[in-house]
Amino acid sequence: MEQIITCINCPVGCRMTVALNDQGEVVSVSGNTCARGEKYARQECTLPLRMITAVIPCENSEIPLSVKTAEPVPKHLISAVMNQLKKVKVAAPVKLGQVILPNVCETGVDIIATRPLS
Ligand code: SF4
Repeated sequence: MEQIITCINCPVGCRMTVALNDQGEVVSVSGNTCARGEKYARQECTLPLRMITAVIPCENSEIPLSVKTAEPVPKHLISAVMNQLKKVKVAAPVKLGQVILPNVCETGVDIIATRPLS
């Protein structure tokens, strides 16, 4: 089986062809211009990852708090992460980079604030 993937690591946007065996393992990657593209293609075809950003209400502020995952998390967990975020209670003051929700969905990745809120 083959998958066509566009690399998103730089503006060049190389179009890559990824060959997979019957077990879903990557056999080869072609069309990439550099090693970053191959790494991205292998990750995207086996366990795609995404950064998640969101805005959550702040109990004592009219301004909501913008948050994100500190690192990319498995794409299939996006809904689960968003559901956990709906239950989070946060109050100002919040520092930039403050951990709002540690180890979201047992991923080992924290949800952090992307702005301060006073
Ligand atoms: S393979 Fe390399 S050159 Fe091509 S888009 Fe990805 S990062 Fe850019």
